[in-house]
Amino acid sequence: MRAMNPEKVLSVHHWTDELFSFTTTRDPGFRFKNGQFTMIGLQTEGKPLMRAYSMVSANHEDHLEFFSIKVQDGPLTSRLQHIQEGDEVLVNTKPTGTLVVDHLKPAKRLWMMSTGTGLAPFMSLIKDPYVYESFDQIILVHGCRYVSELAYEQDITQDLPNDELIGELVSNQLLYYPTVTREEYKHQGRITDLLESGKLAEDLGLPQPNTDEDRFMLCGSPAMLDDMCVILERNGFHESRHGEQAEYVIERAFVEK
Ligand SMILES: Cc1cc2nc3c(=O)[nH]c(=O)nc-3n(C[C@H](O)[C@H](O)[C@H](O)COP(=O)(O)OP(=O)(O)OC[C@H]3O[C@@H](n4cnc5c(N)ncnc54)[C@H](O)[C@@H]3O)c2cc1C
Repeated sequence: MRAMNPEKVLSVHHWTDELFSFTTTRDPGFRFKNGQFTMIGLQTEGKPLMRAYSMVSANHEDHLEFFSIKVQDGPLTSRLQHIQEGDEVLVNTKPTGTLVVDHLKPAKRLWMMSTGTGLAPFMSLIKDPYVYESFDQIILVHGCRYVSELAYEQDITQDLPNDELIGELVSNQLLYYPTVTREEYKHQGRITDLLESGKLAEDLGLPQPNTDEDRFMLCGSPAMLDDMCVILERNGFHESRHGEQAEYVIERAFVEK
């Protein structure tokens, strides 16, 4: 198999001046686990310019989807943000990642805590029937600065509950908690503060997370991950390492350079 597949852009959607998503064709040989990421990019000055991206699409879908930041002076995204239908994007054929259900000890509830584009791997995971088989309840928390940045809200609240394959699972088992920090909204505040104060569980009508019943997957900014790890470790949760089952797993949404 080739190390990189050229894929055709099928559609592009701009959510805000800083966020967009796009779909591409998918080589049938490209296999991945829901929640994983791979390197994607563009051919630039005769060389591939690649960056890590989580798949938004699930592995049973016949196209690929990605959710991207636009960094105005970013080597890749200053270019990638201008892609259009029919353009070519390179997709590395070796996906990887730590957001894997089997790395978590069995429990009742799975909390997916994300900020910004950290939502991407969870979009793939919430379309996976195995996730719903493994936990009674899935709680998807997405923190952003502004309401306009709560991408995929309609997909989560309206489209997925009516999906032929997983609609019933989503309706019965998925709870969605979007929250913003910089304007009025039904839920406000940083997800770390909401978790630590107990408001998150209270608002959802759930018991406060505990190591017997709850597991966590984290994907967000380095600062959010640091703060979340401190809170979780203080409450007795341990991170899965080297594939050994534990109470939480983390993935970086990006690296500060
Ligand atoms: C495991 C992993 C998975 C990733 N998945 C995604 C994804 O699904 N979608 C995505 O947009 N990016 C994702 N990234 C980040 C991505 O790899 C690139 O950094 C991003 O596309 C910007 O590329 P660039 O070349 O334009 O700028 P870079 O030189 O790569 O980044 C410049 C600066 O921009 C900021 N930045 C980069 N990415 C983000 C981001 N996503 N959100 C907020 N600030 C950011 C950081 O401060 C960084 O130092 C992921 C990174 C890792 C490590």
